[in-house]
Amino acid sequence: MSRINDPRAAASAEHRKQTKVCQHCGETFSPSAHRQVDRKAWAARKFCGKACTARGIMKRPEVVERQAATIKANFSDPAYRARHSAMAIDNFRRGAATRRKHGIGWIPDDLRGMYRKMRFSCGAPEARRMMREYLAAMARRQVNAVLQQMKDKAEKQRKQAY
Ligand SMILES: [Zn+2]
Repeated sequence: MSRINDPRAAASAEHRKQTKVCQHCGETFSPSAHRQVDRKAWAARKFCGKACTARGIMKRPEVVERQAATIKANFSDPAYRARHSAMAIDNFRRGAATRRKHGIGWIPDDLRGMYRKMRFSCGAPEARRMMREYLAAMARRQVNAVLQQMKDKAEKQRKQAY
């Protein structure tokens, strides 16, 4: 059977000629050529893609208001609040347990992102060694800064004594 005479192919070609204007970014878009023809889904579509769907829906004032109202209502319920804080504490504990398990408890919070990148690029043992060296250098710098301060102070006092 020839593709040109295939009524289904013709119908789908016709379907893909339709256009709509995205309600978020204002671009015109057509049904995707990669997807099967789904007339119902096409009829319901308001946005050109996933990003615009998410942004368009999140930005709608009634949605924002509804979400705020839901959050407010939830948190005014003491039982929900208790549950929520219990959950937050639980999550925190679980995170701490994970960090312990991965053996990065000794790395300061703000350096963990850096450690992760180092681990990806040069492996855990090398990353650990580099991190240890970095921390040692930082500690040395701090110690040196304190020593320098003490020296400066002593110098000042010596000068004032004369
Ligand atoms: Zn769009």
